[in-house]
Amino acid sequence: MSISRHSSTAKYTRLDEHQHHDDEDDESIHSDGTVDELIQSDDPEHPANLIPELCRGFYTLGWVTGTGGGISLKSGNLVYLAPSGVQKERILPEHIFVLPYPQPAVVKAHTERTFLRKPKQEGLKESACTPLFWNAYELRNAGACIHTHSQHAVMATLLWKGEVFEISHQEMIKGIRIGGTGKTLSYLDTLVVPIIENTPHEEDLTESMSEMMQKYPDAAGILVRRHGLYVWGPTWQSAKTQAECLDYLFEIGVKIKLMGLPVCPAKEGGL
Ligand SMILES: [Zn+2]
Repeated sequence: MSISRHSSTAKYTRLDEHQHHDDEDDESIHSDGTVDELIQSDDPEHPANLIPELCRGFYTLGWVTGTGGGISLKSGNLVYLAPSGVQKERILPEHIFVLPYPQPAVVKAHTERTFLRKPKQEGLKESACTPLFWNAYELRNAGACIHTHSQHAVMATLLWKGEVFEISHQEMIKGIRIGGTGKTLSYLDTLVVPIIENTPHEEDLTESMSEMMQKYPDAAGILVRRHGLYVWGPTWQSAKTQAECLDYLFEIGVKIKLMGLPVCPAKEGGL
């Protein structure tokens, strides 16, 4: 059979159908003869398969439309990264960047990163969120980090004009972990999510995000005013759960506030 660069998830189906394929029949071999083992797996939970699947889900939620937002997963000493500026619901495993963790040099804005694998397709760039994802890996020992451009997050940053978003007495607070990776909060805890100011270039958020994560060690995520949310977790499942809980809490917090009702009833009265 002819060997060509795969371009669809159909490859996985075909591998499943031919469990005993030999090397010559292996479509994971590229046209240039290289094997891209870092992103080739028929395990649906392999990061290179999960990132496209999760991006499709987040797209339908309105979190990563217009090519915004993104996700990164860490597995052992490897970090997997979606490309920037692409249709997030159409990402394929072959579009994924793979980086070694830790990096040989400090990861900060506007510096070069070391890669183990870059997509062969021209025009694909690493996500501009990379140093921000790195904040979650280095400061919280996270295993996954999600960045959304959710309108609920943006609205929350407009109605909470100070340094933090706060809400209490909501069942979904129990889905949030202390620091994003610790024990889960109780119904009686007040959720506090710090807000940083937006910058024209995403990478320039790196330092203020890092400062806020250190100032608020219990924060499970960081809101970016007029922009969106960064949230992380020890695993992709936990990061996703917390992203969903936070988004719910931003949405309901905005609605409660717009109704003129108390968002933190113990503090504001109204319990
Ligand atoms: Zn963004």
